[in-house]
Amino acid sequence: MREVRFEQDLTRFTVYEYGNKQGPRVAITAAIHGDEQTAIHTANLLMKELGDLTVNGYVKVIPVCNPPSFRNRTRFSPFDHIDMNRIFPGSPDGGPTHQLAHALWQETRDVDYIVDLHCVGNGGATYTLALYKEFPELRELAEALALPIIIQSSGTRGQLFVESCHAGQKALIIELPAGQPGGTIDVAAAEECSRAVIRYLHHLGVLSASVPGHPVTFYDEITTVVAQEPGLFLPAVEPGIICERGTALGTWNDTPLLAPFTGVITTISPPRYCFTGESLAGIAPIAGAQSS
Ligand SMILES: [Zn+2]
Repeated sequence: MREVRFEQDLTRFTVYEYGNKQGPRVAITAAIHGDEQTAIHTANLLMKELGDLTVNGYVKVIPVCNPPSFRNRTRFSPFDHIDMNRIFPGSPDGGPTHQLAHALWQETRDVDYIVDLHCVGNGGATYTLALYKEFPELRELAEALALPIIIQSSGTRGQLFVESCHAGQKALIIELPAGQPGGTIDVAAAEECSRAVIRYLHHLGVLSASVPGHPVTFYDEITTVVAQEPGLFLPAVEPGIICERGTALGTWNDTPLLAPFTGVITTISPPRYCFTGESLAGIAPIAGAQSS
């Protein structure tokens, strides 16, 4: 008997480790959703930096957490069509994606901090996503990244960062432009995000040097504006800008589509024919503004 191997990287992921283990323990993860390639590129840029620096602590980077979905350039695993970021902590006795989630969960139990890198798609802004209301200590960590937009997560269970927070770790997400669908890279966003993680590691004392960041603003949860009927959407705003209430986000079948409140645009659909229920825009109010 002989065994012929092919595509053998589909059932294993690689962990890159840095540091002297004399300090904070941090995991940087990417591509839990395999098409989110801006996140993968960020992790790879970060690893180039870490290889040249003194790391006081322990940093493990897992640039491709979901190899089959990366190979397939899809959010869901081609094995079982499951979204891995809804099923943590996974199960050693489940199907392939449950087993993978379990393996990743086990691999990230020995760290204090997790930065999970994701992509929000074309027409998306870079933003930090955190449960900063439930876990106030995350405010300071989100600020340390010094990316301008920090958004309260809706806290959907089964996500690595949400379950890790409930397990006592300090975990957050950075959402990046491009990536999904189809696996594309926003190179400038990846470079900026890599610098943000350097700032974060400097804040923890893991790295001695840092790079300048941005002033930050905290926002409440994202509201999604969806198409009420099929039609043509033509956007009029860019992701990442702040829109006043009543500003036209674009036109919907020749009618202005108005911002329902003042907030930051997290995503905006490209010009296209949309169908009922599809997202046209994501908008998040400045923290506390809606209740006042
Ligand atoms: Zn994702």
